[in-house]
Amino acid sequence: MKLISVLAALSTTVLASLPVRAMTDAQEIEMGAGVAQKVEDRFGGVLPDGDPLARRVQRLGAPFARLSSRRGIGYSYKVLKNDRVLNAFAAPGGRIYITRRLVNMAANDAELAAILGHETAHTDRRHIAATFEKFGRDQRAGTALGDKLLGKGKQGIGRSFISLGALIAFVVASPGYSRRHESEADALSARWMSRLGLDPRAEISILGKADRKAAAGEIERYWASHPAIRERNATLARLIAQENLLAVARENGGPRLWWSGRQASAKKRARRTRRHRRVVRKRRIAQVMGQKYA
Ligand SMILES: [Zn+2]
Repeated sequence: MKLISVLAALSTTVLASLPVRAMTDAQEIEMGAGVAQKVEDRFGGVLPDGDPLARRVQRLGAPFARLSSRRGIGYSYKVLKNDRVLNAFAAPGGRIYITRRLVNMAANDAELAAILGHETAHTDRRHIAATFEKFGRDQRAGTALGDKLLGKGKQGIGRSFISLGALIAFVVASPGYSRRHESEADALSARWMSRLGLDPRAEISILGKADRKAAAGEIERYWASHPAIRERNATLARLIAQENLLAVARENGGPRLWWSGRQASAKKRARRTRRHRRVVRKRRIAQVMGQKYA
């Protein structure tokens, strides 16, 4: 993947202050800012906030940000203007990204929300920070991840290259997470979905779609090499049954495939349209009658 080599060329200053012990929220936010800029440039930039697709992603991401227990960071949800890559990831500091191609693959709000919930969960559980901390302690772990993501024999540029390249690659390539991190993020996302009244089974359907695309070779190698989407889906199905998440979703007005916020705003839009039509009609009548419309 070309992206990795470009990311590897990033300035080492991003990680120059890599903390050996616990990373503070402020450090994570600062690191996120550096990573985000490079990642945005690499993926063709982000859609402006006012874009309908960007607004939809913000609207669906915000409820997860509200449910997150991390209050020290501000979450953001952005769409990368990229129609080639199917990917979503959490950069450090609560910066969640999804490519336009992946947004368009989601059949409904619930599928899109499942992805955003999963990425929010990685941040909520400090998976990124924990991984960076681990690498700070154990250089060998960093090199092992470098081998996994970049391929063996590509580390000729030196140790700092591997740390940086691997860590940034980690941000954009989900296989960088441990299996435990993935299942934690899957589970938390499903629980959040049900609390929001969304159908948690949408997480299974969108992962299944990614799996089928991977099987068909339509997906980049990082997703394609992802070990166990089928296994993750089986675990999710068990969790939904064991924790009765459909009942939780029902208590919260679901299980829905479309976010109710969207329905409410559709209602509002309809009201505005009716009001607008009334005003236009009155104006027309006033014109016909030669009166000034007040
Ligand atoms: Zn993940």
